[in-house]
Amino acid sequence: MKNVLFIAPPAGGKGTISEKLVAEFGYEHISTGDLLREIDKTTPLGKEVDDRLKMGKLIDDDLVLKLLKEKLETLEGKPFILDGCPRNLAQAQKCDELFAEMGLSLDVVIELKVPYDVVLNRAIGRITCPKCKSIYNTVTKKPRNLGICDSCGENLIHRSDDNEETFRTRYDAFVEVTEPIADFYKDRGIYEAIDGLHDVYEETVSVLRK
Ligand SMILES: [Zn+2]
Repeated sequence: MKNVLFIAPPAGGKGTISEKLVAEFGYEHISTGDLLREIDKTTPLGKEVDDRLKMGKLIDDDLVLKLLKEKLETLEGKPFILDGCPRNLAQAQKCDELFAEMGLSLDVVIELKVPYDVVLNRAIGRITCPKCKSIYNTVTKKPRNLGICDSCGENLIHRSDDNEETFRTRYDAFVEVTEPIADFYKDRGIYEAIDGLHDVYEETVSVLRK
């Protein structure tokens, strides 16, 4: 199986896909968030990162890359999923150098293309009953019948609330940092886009097997 970097907007579904790939094909899922949470504080590198986190300082690209390198050294030939790193052009270039140095390769970069409205609704999929004020979520707390209130049978409505603004900010940040990375891998000829509304998992597996 190919080593892969996923690019997907917040609520774009890469977490679910990654979980399945780990379970089905023995992938190692390497996320920057996990690397930072699972640091070994007994090593000089772990201690440095821990100190910076405690002081609220930025974890710069070099430190992220060092953590990534440590993780990659433990893989023993397992295929890997990169998640959240590289997240800017500089990191992407440094990752390339790191892989070359370690005799590894990033084989494919898959972008899950999911329309803004869809990820927005997943993220803030709140639906409410205008009559009895019951609250549901289209993802996490579905009513028994689609669009109908369990308690009183009224048609449920989706209303925008201030979470949308927060989501928009996250989404815009994603687009801003992602475009240069996608272009970088397009130039390298390893970029693939998958329509995030179709059977994303099956398509992903077929790309990873090619
Ligand atoms: Zn109701």
